[in-house]
Amino acid sequence: MRGGIVAFPTETVYGLGADVFNERAIRKIFDAKKRPADNPLIAHVGSLDQIPSLTNRASKSAERLIAAFFPGPLTVVLPRSATVPLLATAGLDTIGVRMPSNDLAQQFLRECKVPIVAPSANLSGRPSPTTWMAVSEDLDGRIDCILQGDPTTIGLESTVVDCTGESPVLLRRGAVSFERLREIVSDISEASSEDPDLAKSPGMKHRHYSPMAVVVIADDVTSLVLSTSDAFIGLQRPAGDSDQIRICDSVEDYAASLFEFFRQCDRNGIARIYCEKVSETGIGGALMDRIRRAAEK
Ligand code: AMP
Ligand code: MG
Repeated sequence: MRGGIVAFPTETVYGLGADVFNERAIRKIFDAKKRPADNPLIAHVGSLDQIPSLTNRASKSAERLIAAFFPGPLTVVLPRSATVPLLATAGLDTIGVRMPSNDLAQQFLRECKVPIVAPSANLSGRPSPTTWMAVSEDLDGRIDCILQGDPTTIGLESTVVDCTGESPVLLRRGAVSFERLREIVSDISEASSEDPDLAKSPGMKHRHYSPMAVVVIADDVTSLVLSTSDAFIGLQRPAGDSDQIRICDSVEDYAASLFEFFRQCDRNGIARIYCEKVSETGIGGALMDRIRRAAEK
């Protein structure tokens, strides 16, 4: 480990990684992404035996969630051990921990032999990158290396669950849905945006996932007529003569395609992107969360 910063694929989105114990390297991540210093990073491990170097206290519910969903698209927030630099956690006494399931991510993390803090490998505020080309579009010349893997399969950032309180709290929706979490930890609740608990996830207050275009949620696609400067992504085809239309095979495909579609629209100078509203079950919950955030201006 020489203190460099490396972009690598995971099953959620591409991450930009640094040695969790190297403050100089962590600082490079914040600089390269232009990320606000109060937005904490998630530590990625290649094996479960690396978790004790990050925390000295995992609650019973954390242990159950780890047993059920690691490796996979779930981050658990745990008390930070004193050896983890405060720079990595934006001054918090907690640290988010995740073990990705993507093969290249696992190989990379095992070679590193230390946990790797990695936010999404995009410029802060832009849609997260789901291809190595999107990483290059934002960060070429600002980082040391990009591991060129396949497009990510899930395409939305990990589910984040705070396990430091009395009962677990869902801080950010992701591919591991609230319904699946509740099967493992029945006392889990979801933090609402007005909830003071969200202060525990300071990153959530920053603007996220936004293309340059205005994003509009389409409740009823059958009544929509697109103009040539509009784009559309969803499951059913609207009327109109735009050539920027992405019809997805499933909600999973929609989730996996959303961020790259946003980027494509920016490259083509699209003014307005309609996103079809879907039911908030399964990955639909996380998908609608990201679309709503992108639609907030
Ligand atoms: P990113 O990897 O860019 O998607 O950002 C990581 C996000 O995970 C942050 O913006 C927070 O929402 C959340 N997160 C990371 N670490 C913590 C933590 N210690 N406590 C609460 N939320 C966290
Ligand atoms: Mg991010």
